[in-house]
Amino acid sequence: MSVQSPNDTYISLGEKLRRVNLQALGLAVGLLALVITLASLVISALALESNTRVMTRVLADNAAASLMFLDKEAAARVLATLEHLPDVRGAAIFDTQLAEFVRYGRFLAEGEGRQKPSLSSEHAQFRLDTLHMTQPIVENGNVIGVLDLDLDLQPLYTQVFAHTSIVAAAALLALWLATGMLRRLNGVVLRPLTTLSALMERVAHTEDYGARAEPSRIIELDSLAIGFNRMLGQIAERDARLAAHRDHLEDEVATRTEELLRAKEAAEAASQAKSDFLATMSHEIRTPMNGVLGMTELLLDSDLNHEQRHFAEAVENSGRHLLGIINDILDFSKIESGQLELESVEFELGELLEGTLAMFAQPAEKKGLELVADLPPEARRCVLGDPFRLRQIVGNLINNAVKFTERGEIVVRARLLGEGAEDCRLRISVEDTGIGIPPHAQQKIFDQFSQLDGSTTRQFGGTGLGLAICRRLVGLMGGEIGVDSQPGKGARFHFDLRLPSGHSTPEALRCDVALDHVRTLVVDDNATNREILLRQLQGWGMHVECAADGAGALGLLAHTTAAGEGFDLAVLDMHMPHMDGLQLASSIRANPALAGVRLVVLTSSYSSASVRERERAGILRCVHKPIRQAELHEVICSALRGPRDTGGDARTPTAAPIALAGRVLLAEDNPVNQQVGEAMLAKLGLAVQFAANGEEAVRLAQAEAFDLILMDCHMPVMDGYEASAAIRAGVRAHRVPIIALTANVMEGNRERCLAAGMDDFLGKPYSLGQLHAVLRRWMGAVADTAPADDKPPAAAAAQAADEEAAIDRGFLEQFRELDPAGGLALAERIVGVYLDSCGKTFAQIEEAAAAGDGEGLRRAAHSLKSSSGNVGAKPLYALLRELEGLGRDGDIEAARARLDDLRRAFARACAELRALRAEIGP
Ligand code: ADP
Repeated sequence: MSVQSPNDTYISLGEKLRRVNLQALGLAVGLLALVITLASLVISALALESNTRVMTRVLADNAAASLMFLDKEAAARVLATLEHLPDVRGAAIFDTQLAEFVRYGRFLAEGEGRQKPSLSSEHAQFRLDTLHMTQPIVENGNVIGVLDLDLDLQPLYTQVFAHTSIVAAAALLALWLATGMLRRLNGVVLRPLTTLSALMERVAHTEDYGARAEPSRIIELDSLAIGFNRMLGQIAERDARLAAHRDHLEDEVATRTEELLRAKEAAEAASQAKSDFLATMSHEIRTPMNGVLGMTELLLDSDLNHEQRHFAEAVENSGRHLLGIINDILDFSKIESGQLELESVEFELGELLEGTLAMFAQPAEKKGLELVADLPPEARRCVLGDPFRLRQIVGNLINNAVKFTERGEIVVRARLLGEGAEDCRLRISVEDTGIGIPPHAQQKIFDQFSQLDGSTTRQFGGTGLGLAICRRLVGLMGGEIGVDSQPGKGARFHFDLRLPSGHSTPEALRCDVALDHVRTLVVDDNATNREILLRQLQGWGMHVECAADGAGALGLLAHTTAAGEGFDLAVLDMHMPHMDGLQLASSIRANPALAGVRLVVLTSSYSSASVRERERAGILRCVHKPIRQAELHEVICSALRGPRDTGGDARTPTAAPIALAGRVLLAEDNPVNQQVGEAMLAKLGLAVQFAANGEEAVRLAQAEAFDLILMDCHMPVMDGYEASAAIRAGVRAHRVPIIALTANVMEGNRERCLAAGMDDFLGKPYSLGQLHAVLRRWMGAVADTAPADDKPPAAAAAQAADEEAAIDRGFLEQFRELDPAGGLALAERIVGVYLDSCGKTFAQIEEAAAAGDGEGLRRAAHSLKSSSGNVGAKPLYALLRELEGLGRDGDIEAARARLDDLRRAFARACAELRALRAEIGP
């Protein structure tokens, strides 16, 4: 059997053996046959020569007498006896002179290849076909002649051929027999080998290491089989050991898995315990903080002498600082334990950065630092992300910048690095001109509890957690934070983010005055501010020139006026060395030739110049620093529009809390907080009823009528969640708003409050302003008064999801066109009517939803929908349309589920409309 391989031809061992044996046998038999043939030839030739010699001697003896007597006839008779020997071809007798005496048959003559006869000795010569014999004839010891005889060799050849044929036949027969014998022999040797090979193949396929090779009685094969058997034994033993080890391993893995599971459960329990501990600690620390800060706020609101005020302010500052540290620690723990989840809501990046910067206006102003926002139009975009956490990061960086900078400026920049179909890459940086950070510390400061050195803590305070939190938050957002800095030359903290693009675009800035080619002079000693103002105003089409101080500005004004190219507008920084904004404005106003220049100042909210002083200096409007683009635009437009706004402020001054009316149930177990709450509520004009625990709150809520319930979440006997659920399960037709008072800022708490049936929540400690804002919102909606125009910060954080503009101002243009005077009086009137009536309709929606009245819900939603559409409240309109449909379908459950969103949208729409009314009003 042969196996064909791609490169070579393989044959079986049996075949190979047969071939080799055959070759060896063939060679041996062939050699033997050859030797026998040659031997037969030689022996036959020698026998022939010998026989012939005897014959020639007899002839020579018989012919001796005839030669002596020269009797040719007798000699011829002697030779004639040769006729009985057919092999003799011819013969001749020569005398001593070697002359031919007599001849017989065909005798070769001399010269026909035959030598001259020799008298001296007997001689035989083999030729190819002839044996030539020479026999001297001797008589009495004397040579008297010589006999020559030629013998034909053909019979010899015939005999040898016959002999050879017999030998060949015998050889072939021997070969045939040998081959057969070999085949049997091979079979005997190969069978055990084949068996062994088959066994190997079977073991290889079946992995049956228990099989054994049988003995074959052939030593070599048996030793091979023994080796193979031993190998199988070893494999089987190894397998057994492996299996035992595997069993052991499985046991071990099972044990380890169990241990790991136990460890995991323990870790989870520890993590849960940690969160519970954090929640409790948060509550335990914040509750007394509420007492400290609330009481201090009330104290500061009372008549205090200078020293008392100083002390009370110190207490408040320390309290706020402590609260900041607690917040940092809680935030950090939350991030570390993986509990912090980022929101993804739409917001406008420019507004967020400007708003964050504005939070530091006061501390920056105190240190004389310039706060600048450098936000080019392409970076002012709507994106999806977590605005609350982004504000926290940027706020932290600005806070550090203010802390570590004694003079100079702090610039917040945003740059668009790239834009894809669905997202954009942005770089946000905060730069300062402060003490800077040495290179060796630049990475270290991002580790928790890491500060440059101990003296920093003493001089500037802080926990060393701020940047660690920033780094982790930026990391969660998929970015990386870094710093470039040189000691003494300030620091630049920066981070890149890839944020999905929002669905809307930032609201375009509108102005009813053309800004194109308005000649504007910017006077600011701060080069960065000048540069950014220049770019911004030029971006609006204005023609801008800059001056770095009052003297330069006056020179430029005089020069351009003389050239007949006077400025229409001057934007003056209030704080400048040598000549401040007020002095510069007075100097401009003192020059009749510059009467046409409208003046706008850039000032901080805490600027010392009073409205009267500004009016006297002829300043039309103020823009507060840090400059917000929308505010700057609005102020410039109004300054160019006319003198009506003289002395006005772009921002509505913080109003003193507007008194509210109604009855509030305050469920709170902590006596200090009861006092704080009572004092604050009384200050807002509200009557208070206390409940010391949840059970009491439920009882009171069911027995008496309240306009609102403030519900502490953690109380003895029954906590706020249970109490709220119990109140909601009651049968009062009027749905009282319940506001959770919670000191637990851990994730998920808000959801828990809403799930328990509460409407909003207020984080502890809360300020009077925050309490006022949340009360106005909820009491307004229920008591049929216009809803509040403020959003409570806690709600604001929760509602950041709703950043789409609540009011599309495009509707103003429609009313302007309808107004006979072409102004905004009609629009203002309509907004007023809406604000006066909407609360009532909204309450009807709430009541219909609470009562499960689908038709009532549809009617009220429809009515409010159409009026909301008229005043451009698009998000509210969309929600009301949805509710109208749900009312029509009688799907009250779904309608109730949308109520929270509706309340939020409603509150935002009302707030924006109130602001709008203030803006366009007389
Ligand atoms: P802290 O609450 O102590 O400010 P941070 O983590 O915010 O903690 O900052 C850590 C340290 O980094 C600070 O103590 C300060 O030494 C250094 N640092 C942070 N920001 C600045 C900056 N803008 N200029 C100089 N040093 C800074």
